[in-house]
Order: sequence, then C-alpha cells, then structure tokens
Amino acid sequence: MIKKTAFVLLFITLILNCKADDNYKKYTQSSFSMGTLLEITIFSTDEAKVKKILDESMKLSNQLEDKFSCHKDSIITKLNKEKSLIINDNEVLDLLIKSKYLSKLSKGNFDLALFNITELWGFSSGDPKLPDNNIIKNELKKTGYTNVIINKKEVKLLNGVSLDLGGVAKGRIINLIAVFLKQNGFKDFIINGGGDLIVSGKFQNIRPWRIAIVDPFDKNDFLGFIALTDKSIVTSGDYERSFIKDGVNYHHIIDPKTGYPSTNEVHSVTVISSDSTKADAMATAVFVMGEKKGIEFANKTDDLDVIIITGDKDNKKISYSNKITAKKTDKGKWEFTYRD
Ligand code: AMP
Ligand code: MG
Repeated sequence: MIKKTAFVLLFITLILNCKADDNYKKYTQSSFSMGTLLEITIFSTDEAKVKKILDESMKLSNQLEDKFSCHKDSIITKLNKEKSLIINDNEVLDLLIKSKYLSKLSKGNFDLALFNITELWGFSSGDPKLPDNNIIKNELKKTGYTNVIINKKEVKLLNGVSLDLGGVAKGRIINLIAVFLKQNGFKDFIINGGGDLIVSGKFQNIRPWRIAIVDPFDKNDFLGFIALTDKSIVTSGDYERSFIKDGVNYHHIIDPKTGYPSTNEVHSVTVISSDSTKADAMATAVFVMGEKKGIEFANKTDDLDVIIITGDKDNKKISYSNKITAKKTDKGKWEFTYRD
C-alpha cells in the first residue's frame, strides 16, 4: 500500500514537473560591462519579471564597475590619490577587506596594491607597452598588500602604494548579481562576466550546467567541458590581453615579485570555488605561482580547485587538483568531473 501511494505521488510529481517545465523558458541578455561581455541566462516562467531583472542586473554591473574601478572617478581613485580615506560605501569596504585577505592567503601572488606596476604596463588602457626596466624597479618599491591598513572604515595606503582591484572586481560583481537574482526568486541561472562564471541551480531544471573550458592555444576553441551546479568557475589566461615585442609575449598577469608578466609556462588557470570573488583573485594568484606550487596550494586551501594548462600547442599538459578528474573523449575533448 505504501509502495502504491509512493508510486502515485511520484507520478503526480512528474506530471506537475512536466507541466511547469512547459513555461520554464530560457532568457539571455548580454551587454558590454567591466571591460568585457557580460552575459546572463535565466530559466524562468515569468517573462515580464525576468526581462526587468535582467535590465536591472546590467545596470547593477555598471554601477559596481564604477565603484571598484581604479581608472574612473571612483572611491578607489580618490583613495589612490589621497592615500587615506574613510570609506562609507560598504560594497567598496567589503571588497577591500576581502582583497587584502586574499592577497595574504596567496602570499602576495595576488596583490591588491599593484597599481603602480599594472598602470605602467597599461593593459587595461587598451594600449599596453613594455616599460623601462629602471622604472619598473622603482615602482615595485611602491607595491605590496602589507602596506594597505584597514581600521574599521579608515583605509590607509603606506609607502606610496595604490590599489588595482582589476584581478578581483569581476568576481565580486558577478557575486553581487547572483545575490540580486536570488533575492528576486531566481534559482536556475548562469552569469558569465568575460570568463568569470557563476552557475546556479540547473539547466532547464533538469541537469547541471555544462561549462566549456577555453583552449589557451586557440581561444576560439574548447579544450573540454565540466558539469557544475552552484559553483563559480573562473579562468585567467595569457591569451586574454597580451602583446608581442621582439618575439616575446607579454601578457597581463604580473608577478608581484618582479613587476613583469609571470614567466612560468602557465597558459591558463581555471579555478572552481563556491566563492566567485575568491575564485577570481586565486586564478590570478595560481597563474603566478605556476603549476607545481599552484596545485599544492589548491590542495591545501579550502574551497579551491584548479585546472592548470602548461606546455605548447602540440604538447598540452593539463594538471588538476584533488577534487577534479579528467578523461579524453572520442572527439578529442576533455571531460572534467568535479566532486565536492
Ligand atoms: P584577471 O582579469 O582576473 O585575470 O585579472 C587581471 C588583472 O588584474 C590585470 O589586468 C591587472 O589589472 C590585475 N593584476 C595583474 N596581475 C596581478 C596580480 N599578481 N595581483 C593582483 N592583480 C593583478
Ligand atoms: Mg582574476
């Protein structure tokens, strides 16, 4: 009897699910934000609401970008100029506290106070150039997260350092958009801010999201896929912003120890974590650490897994941390699996 009731209940549930799914549609909106393409996809039954919330999410992204930018007329720009400021904006203050914590966690391989060096290279200006070696050496003295002192709302920058939150802001912005979407009752969505992703719930309410991982040797192709739900997945690659001078490829991820783009054979780092702010900063940090140290670091750090690609076009090497497995499919692509 119990079995029969359970069967009837299951059957009714299935019918209800099928009915609900008829109107459970996919809505996607994209717009240029954070210096990249921001794309949000939501599954919902409420078309009017989803369109309104998608518009508001794009606005939210632009507002947050204006706050966190070190190039616009922002609180960060004011702090960089005045070197001491009371910060009353909680979103800015929270990101500063978190960025300092992540700088420490990564032993300075991610450094929130690297502006004086990143500004010299000019990758975010769209017109990067190779700086003079002596200037790099000088400016390197004015970097380092330990020079950022946060005391309640007061932030002080010592020894001439300035802040660049470019390596962490995208992760925080998609995090705040995800919070906004959840507050508005959405559960199944994906936010992609130029390679920084949050996947929530399921695709069409039935299966995990399937995320493609870019081939760093051909950014228009994919190296493989990974199925995820309720996670953030962030990739930093040397193909994103770079220039070649005298046969040398200079990319936008700087080793804070040298002031030059990191040179350790890493071509891309993909981080999986439940925290997109952490994932963003740690993708940059692990890129600088290199393959061996990066894997060790991920294996001993809570809520942090990585896929690191080294080698060259014809001889790619793929390394990954403990919670990830991988196998090559017949089609020559990798199928990665993540287990919590
Ligand atoms: P992402 O787009 O997350 O890979 O971050 C790259 C951006 O972060 C660069 O354009 C710089 O503005 C900044 N950046 C580069 N290297 C570092 C570093 N080692 N620590 C912190 N920020 C960095
Ligand atoms: Mg980053």
